Amino acid sequence: MFITFEGIEGTGKSTQIARVRDYFESQGREVFLTLEPGGSRIGRELRKMLLHVDNREITPITELFLYLADRAQHVGQVIRPELEAGKVVLCDRFADSTIVYQGYGRGLDTAMLRELNEVAVDGLWPDLTIVLDIDPEIGLKRATLRNIEDGKAKEEGRFEAEHISFHNKIREGYLTWAAFNRERMKVIDASSTPDGVFEQVRAVIQAFGGD
Ligand code: C5P
Repeated sequence: MFITFEGIEGTGKSTQIARVRDYFESQGREVFLTLEPGGSRIGRELRKMLLHVDNREITPITELFLYLADRAQHVGQVIRPELEAGKVVLCDRFADSTIVYQGYGRGLDTAMLRELNEVAVDGLWPDLTIVLDIDPEIGLKRATLRNIEDGKAKEEGRFEAEHISFHNKIREGYLTWAAFNRERMKVIDASSTPDGVFEQVRAVIQAFGGD
């Protein structure tokens, strides 16, 4: 089973992914956790580039190809073999991030992005995608708080620096895109406590036959 997690920053994706891992492990399933960008060795090099590059320098198309290259390598070298080994694969961001960030966010044509995503995923689409939804004002406050608690300036600083209107656009993008893909993408209200959110996540997973 291949499950991906999507949403803006500060929705609590990492917390929920860890809980879903514990949940599957308690059912005796082997779980493999991964993320994009950076889920393969080559992808980690691409991630460094993506997270440190100057927004004003990189063209949107160049950025797109870096994300797609990361995905193609990730699917071929990591995700597909782990699924073939019988594991549950949980991935923090996947192809939907490209549609939403590069499409709804940066204004690239979503039809083109769908086609290029098809090339990158090579037939491997998630069984289920959980979209954690939150008001960006709350999400960014949470993300900032987490960084202060971690005592570090987050490596993804360039993204948090985006104006709130960009994050609102991303949130709307996720909701629109999820409405087009109702079967696979399930939107969950991430504004409550981690326990409250996980109750909803677990219900969705169970409805998808994840034990
Ligand atoms: O998942 P995480 O929050 O670490 O992702 C880092 C950032 O990369 C995101 O917040 C988003 O701004 C950016 N991103 C992007 N396009 C993608 C995937 C991620 O702009 N396809």
